Amino acid sequence: MAYSEFFNPELETLSRPQIEALQLQRLQDTVCRCMGSPFYKKRFDSIGLKPSDIRSLEDLRKIPFTTKQDLRDTYPFGIASLPLDKCVRLHSSSGTTGNPTVILHSARDLDQWANAVARCLWMVGCRPEDVFQNSSGYGMFTGGLGFQYGAEKLGMLTVPAAAGNTRRQIKFFTDFGTTVVHAIPSYAARLYEVMTDLGIDPRRDTRLRIFAIGAEPHSEEQRRRIEDMLGVKAYNSFGMSEMCGPGVAFECREQNGMHIWEDYYIVEIVDPDTLEPVPDGTVGELVLTTLNREAMPLLRYRTRDLTRIIPGDCPCGRKHRRLDRMRGRSDDMIILKGVNIFPIQIEQVLMQYPELASDYLITLETAEDNDTMTVEVEMKEQFIDDYALLQNMERNITARLRDEILITPKVCLKPFGSLERSEGKAVRVKDLRKKY
Ligand code: AMP
Ligand code: ZN
Repeated sequence: MAYSEFFNPELETLSRPQIEALQLQRLQDTVCRCMGSPFYKKRFDSIGLKPSDIRSLEDLRKIPFTTKQDLRDTYPFGIASLPLDKCVRLHSSSGTTGNPTVILHSARDLDQWANAVARCLWMVGCRPEDVFQNSSGYGMFTGGLGFQYGAEKLGMLTVPAAAGNTRRQIKFFTDFGTTVVHAIPSYAARLYEVMTDLGIDPRRDTRLRIFAIGAEPHSEEQRRRIEDMLGVKAYNSFGMSEMCGPGVAFECREQNGMHIWEDYYIVEIVDPDTLEPVPDGTVGELVLTTLNREAMPLLRYRTRDLTRIIPGDCPCGRKHRRLDRMRGRSDDMIILKGVNIFPIQIEQVLMQYPELASDYLITLETAEDNDTMTVEVEMKEQFIDDYALLQNMERNITARLRDEILITPKVCLKPFGSLERSEGKAVRVKDLRKKY
């Protein structure tokens, strides 16, 4: 059967002026809706701002930012714009400090969210004939239900396998003829490890062809590895609970940046210190305004994620702009001896060595009042006994890392399987430094 390239042809093929006209109309509706929110009503009143003051997209900048702290301070329902009896779902993310945050959804919100995820999956070639297995956590983690409803909306046969029980996952791949999988990148690598143990060759023994990978930072090198190991195309998927979950931005088949659906969100990239907008192409903090949510719209939400807009048009024809691969959250940045380092910079270097497996751990410690970094990384099984190779590689990796991050870490190559595996998003950094 011949399908269109687009899941929502009329919205995915809008021109820039059409996108911006739709955004203004939806922004004005959203701001009016926000007056049902005790939090936003008070905030607007306190600075004398009225919904009618928002007459152009530039006027967005009159609205103050919303922060994660605002979500915590108003926990659980203080930002909602609709009464609870109009809401049908709640997702909550547990922060490491303070109150967790809560996001509420109406039935329409859930339907629109499912549509966004379906649009993403369709864009990379998923069709109703596919069998979709969701190997990500369910429950409060939005990658579970978010992908479930999106894949169903697209019309695929969906298998809500959830994360873990890897042998059973693989049995499902072979028994059900799974063709599309959603998993966090660290788990995609694990699936391959266990397949190898079981003597299963993904190319020969499965019908796998597409992986949606996201929810945690990963490098281009990590993606290529997943593709090579599993014989699939792997597409970067970006989302966060505050913006529903998955479906915010997704790579198209070009694999060069993630289209952010601008009929759902207004994107700003700001300098995290001055909060002023930065030009396209410059890295800054991603700030998002929801345009298509009624239970709990968020205005100018500071995501803490650092990325940039990729300048220029995408050959796929969509004019929704592209976000570059996330550098990580500003809170993930390591500051060691005054140098700013993102874990992803270290991963980029490690993943260039074919002898290394995919798991690594960065430990920061204080030794004799001096802060140090140790990078432990697992070797692939066949290389660990070659002592000369190990020594040579440790030296070589140390030098490459020093060039990349400007400090000299201690590199330890470890036997395969010796680093602890986490159930959810991978833990890549342990900070044991003395705090003064
Ligand atoms: P959560 O709301 O718990 O699902 O976490 C959302 C956060 O996960 C985002 O703010 C990002 O920091 C991170 N994240 C989600 N998707 C990606 C991705 N594709 N690449 C890098 N980080 C991501
Ligand atoms: Zn594209």
